[in-house]
Amino acid sequence: MTPAFTYQALPMRVVFGAGALAKLPDEVDALGLTRVLVLCSPEQEDTGRAVAAALGDRAAGVLPEARMHVPVEVARRARELAAELGADGCLAVGGGSAIGLGKAIALEHDLPVIAVPTTYAGSEMTPVWGLTEGGEKRTGRDLRVLPRSVLYDPAMTLTLPAQLSATSGMNAIAHAVEGLYAPDASPIVSLMAEEGTRALAGALPRVVADGSDLEARGQAQYGAWLCGAVLAATTMSLHHKLCHALGGTLDLPHAQTHTVVLPHALAFNQPAAPQAVAALSRALDGAADPARALWELAGRLDAPRSLRELGMAETDIPRIVDAVLGSPYANPRPVTADGVASLLRAAWAGEVPAALPR
Ligand code: NAD
Repeated sequence: MTPAFTYQALPMRVVFGAGALAKLPDEVDALGLTRVLVLCSPEQEDTGRAVAAALGDRAAGVLPEARMHVPVEVARRARELAAELGADGCLAVGGGSAIGLGKAIALEHDLPVIAVPTTYAGSEMTPVWGLTEGGEKRTGRDLRVLPRSVLYDPAMTLTLPAQLSATSGMNAIAHAVEGLYAPDASPIVSLMAEEGTRALAGALPRVVADGSDLEARGQAQYGAWLCGAVLAATTMSLHHKLCHALGGTLDLPHAQTHTVVLPHALAFNQPAAPQAVAALSRALDGAADPARALWELAGRLDAPRSLRELGMAETDIPRIVDAVLGSPYANPRPVTADGVASLLRAAWAGEVPAALPR
């Protein structure tokens, strides 16, 4: 029998496929915007300026200052600039950092955000914002920050380096994995999670082998969209908690950390999440042990597989265990200090994710 569930659809629009960027002026017009502030990271300034040029006088300015985890001082500057320019909307071109900056403006000034994602992280699909002050990252959910329109054009990802393509794709798969065993999982969201994992796991090896393969890029973006939608619809568990603690406490890089931790967090949870295992197994070519299959996928993608290579010291493990156990959250399997410590030790050393029990 189909279990009871609640599903909340989000009010947003997606324009998908090769050539989608050409529809940007129409999307801006459809939202009634006339002065849009373009946001991007310093590394993607040329891209931000090219997109602004295509918007002509609908672009009010470009702010190429987006940074990982949205430092509050950058958010402040962006909000001031938006007010100064009389912007009536924001256009975020980039990954989670640029989109996060758009969300920070929307949170305060209620300006609509349009997103043109260039990574696979999935922030564009969620009403989740984050702001970092004094080394502390606060996050929250607010429908005002959900982009009104998202344009997925695979051409915008052609310049994403192989390493970042691989790790941001694994970051997306992590949303799907945790959505499958979330306390608020639903059959609809699980379909998206399974299909998103299948699309990304199939596309990423092709993207890494040939970054100019537009068809593979499109398939990866389709998976990223689905996985981002799963993140928006469900409550994340131990894996995201671990990555949040590792990023916040030790400043480890976001996508790479997700890539290393995911197989181990999944191995920990697999015994308590048989339906998630079944869905992931279908998505990963019938793999009997999806945690092991994801670890092998990371290897094939030449992505990092140990926290040690990301710069973490083994002596940092107890701090992360404390941070993870310090606040309660949902997880399919009870989270114990010993369990988290042994999971982290395996992830730190880059071991094969252990079959449990621990
Ligand atoms: P990012 O946006 O920080 O980008 C990483 C680097 O890659 C940047 O230097 C960027 O300029 C560059 N880059 C991005 N796309 C490129 C392209 N196509 N070509 C060349 N260079 C490119 O990376 P990310 O992994 O997308 O985002 C990470 C951030 O997003 C974190 O702060 C994370 O917490 C946040 N995030 C938030 C959500 C949410 O729902 N709120 C979801 C996922 C991630």
